[in-house]
Amino acid sequence: MQKIYLDNAATTKVSNEVLTEMLECYGDTFGNPSSIHSFGREASALVDKARDRVASLINAERGEIYFTSGGTESNNWAIVGLALANRAKGNHIITSAIEHKSVLEACKRLERLGFEVTYLPVDKTGLVDIAKLLHFITHKTILVSIMAANNEVGTIQNLKAISKIAHEKGVIFHTDAISAVGNFKIDVKDLEVDALSISAHKFNGPKGVGALYVKKGVKIDNLIVGGEQEKGKRGGTLNVPQIVGFGKACEILQENYIIDCKKTKYLRDYFVNTLEKEIPNITINGHLHQKTPQIASVSFNNIDAEALLCLLDLAGIAVSTGAACDAGSVEPSHVLLAMGKSIEEAQSTIRFSFGTNNTKEEIDYVVAELKKDVERLRSISPLKAKK
Ligand SMILES: *Cc1c(COP(=O)(O)O)cnc(C)c1O
Repeated sequence: MQKIYLDNAATTKVSNEVLTEMLECYGDTFGNPSSIHSFGREASALVDKARDRVASLINAERGEIYFTSGGTESNNWAIVGLALANRAKGNHIITSAIEHKSVLEACKRLERLGFEVTYLPVDKTGLVDIAKLLHFITHKTILVSIMAANNEVGTIQNLKAISKIAHEKGVIFHTDAISAVGNFKIDVKDLEVDALSISAHKFNGPKGVGALYVKKGVKIDNLIVGGEQEKGKRGGTLNVPQIVGFGKACEILQENYIIDCKKTKYLRDYFVNTLEKEIPNITINGHLHQKTPQIASVSFNNIDAEALLCLLDLAGIAVSTGAACDAGSVEPSHVLLAMGKSIEEAQSTIRFSFGTNNTKEEIDYVVAELKKDVERLRSISPLKAKK
């Protein structure tokens, strides 16, 4: 049976060029980058090169990039670290209702520590209401954290407008750009962000490595103490092979992203168009234009998404009902609910996410399979009688 991977928003395959560079670090260049001798210097040079590549991708300076164990860590550190370091100025934080759980739970943690958090609502398309942002900023607000692009529906926020408002009020602006990097150009200087989270495995890099960009001069609390690595802010011997792979993935992305995005967008749009022709009573979620090329979030009226996912899996097709991190939870997606969907609608939603490895033929096969499965499930749906 052929296997088709349409869950590229959950993770992507490590590219061969990335793997090749990583493997070298498991061989002779095994040194500890903190060591002074030649083995250490060799490893340290590789880390420097990777840091330059990450910095270059987002137009940052080398000294503004801190390596982490991935996106979840970067978000936790950004929220808690920026809040604690700036507590003297106030205790209020603003985020949105559709953030990744690593941001939302970090905010919950701060609430337990005495901070106040405002969770901004979004409209039907998943866009944060900018007027509301302005309305909620007070003299106690120290941090605004709004994601660049949503990982379930793909909606892209008006980042420049948000950072402008935050800065006019003297508030620090962090963005979770994890599902944005690889989908459109992210330039920290152009967007005027103070801190930004990025994760390698969302764009053909290895899992378990990412970075937090912190603009020079912005104060952030240390995350891990007891080591001088990462300027003492995130101690511990660096994971050189992962970092090297991350750097290579950034370099490849920087060269290819325009062509790659065109390709994924073509495939995604072809999928959506064919689907709309073939299957009645479906809704495409998210913003019509302001969304990443990768994602198609589709609600299938009268369908249990879990059941559909299983049928697709039996046919070799991998998709997702929401964020991978929430898989296994029976809760309906907080993102879809915040966008005004009912629980039933949220539980009838599948996320298809495309990559450059996918083909048109695969999509034809997926749509044909979907058509069959949806008809089958709808014919046995208890909801059908009600219509
Ligand atoms: C994947 C993802 C994360 C988590 O990143 P990990 O590297 O998997 O920990 C956070 N935020 C968004 C928007 C994501 O897509």
